[in-house]
Amino acid sequence: MTSTDGAAAIHSRRVGDIEVTVLPDGYLDATLAVVRNPPPDPEDLIRRHGGRVPPRISVNTFLVKSADRFALIDTGSGDSMGPTLGQLPRALAAVGVAPGAIDAILLTHMHPDHSNGLSDAAGQRLFPNAEVVLHENEIPHWFDDAAMARAIESQRIRYFGQAREQIAPYRRDRVREFRAGEVFPGVTAIPIPGHTPGHTAYLVASGRESLLVWGDTVHIPELQVPRPETTMMFDTDPAAAAASRVRVFDMVVAENLPVAGMHLHFPGFARMTKHAGAFALVPET
Ligand SMILES: [Zn+2]
Repeated sequence: MTSTDGAAAIHSRRVGDIEVTVLPDGYLDATLAVVRNPPPDPEDLIRRHGGRVPPRISVNTFLVKSADRFALIDTGSGDSMGPTLGQLPRALAAVGVAPGAIDAILLTHMHPDHSNGLSDAAGQRLFPNAEVVLHENEIPHWFDDAAMARAIESQRIRYFGQAREQIAPYRRDRVREFRAGEVFPGVTAIPIPGHTPGHTAYLVASGRESLLVWGDTVHIPELQVPRPETTMMFDTDPAAAAASRVRVFDMVVAENLPVAGMHLHFPGFARMTKHAGAFALVPET
């Protein structure tokens, strides 16, 4: 099902008895200065794979309806990243789901474009009835004063400071941390550390069907699919991020798993192929 309601484009797919709907938060036009370990001619590679220069990074969240409960995977950027982002509330309204109907927020990780939609500027929960579910390594990292002191200045406030503020209204009794395993009916957490210490993919499975919501396995698909060794300046551990990326790519190709990505272009769902050693993404329409 695809429909367009004003600026909010909605696309749903079924995974057995589970319904997964992409709820776009918007996009960000990045600069190539955020890329680390780039290939020799990154602009040419991006254009050859159909992308824009400077690279446009789409930002998605995914609504999961399973066993009559709603989970939201990530919350977008709230009002913290300018007018091209922060569209999740409108997308949620377009599918007729009130924020109070969300039972669980499954975070792939805490970064501004994923978790700044948790709470408003007054410190109120934007999802009043939801528990926040995330990997056990994530909150300790963002509350680690030594790690914060080591971070570059722009990330101290935007990453560490905002992560602390956003989780605070939930932290006393509405946070559930996991190591791995099933975290919501039909949804299994698969840690893929590197981008952040608690970065997690979620495998949605029902009956004979599955879908891997792979979080930030790629930020700029036109670069990191053909060149998985390409990392981002905001990777906590770039080498581990690149290793996790290849591990995920190999898994989805071997199992012919459809994927959903926070930074895949609309509709945010794709399949992956590998020919002559080269990975490629085939968007699902
Ligand atoms: Zn991201």
